Amino acid sequence: MNCLILVDIQNDFLPGGALALPDGDAVIPIANKLQPAFQLVIATQDWHPASHGSFAASHPGRNVFEQVELNGLPQTLWPVHCVQGTRGAELAATLNRDRITKVFPKGTDAGIDSYSGLFDNGHRKSTGLDEWLKQQDVTEVFICGQTTGYEL
Ligand SMILES: [Zn+2]
Repeated sequence: MNCLILVDIQNDFLPGGALALPDGDAVIPIANKLQPAFQLVIATQDWHPASHGSFAASHPGRNVFEQVELNGLPQTLWPVHCVQGTRGAELAATLNRDRITKVFPKGTDAGIDSYSGLFDNGHRKSTGLDEWLKQQDVTEVFICGQTTGYEL
């Protein structure tokens, strides 16, 4: 079984979004075109509580892109983005969702960030994605999305 993982194709990472990646929307037609070639299609979704510790706004006196320590881990401070239930956190409207069978939220714990779709940045908690892939007998994974837009 193969699986296409669509990573964080969300409004806040697209032009006009709170943490827009240049040409972030260029991935959408590619993601849509790729989907029929895969047996399974799933997505990850950055899904932060409003007071997430990765937000500069959560650290009085600190600025966006500054480095801090957050619960023992180095943390880049980001603009407020992908807050649960907001339009910015939604998957892109032009992303075809018909074949997306499951969405894995990440970054849901205010005390730790999660750049990976598998684990938080400290590998303290799993998102459940790894276990799910094993349960589905997935042997090949392909990844498409907003994965390397910022250098850390
Ligand atoms: Zn985030």
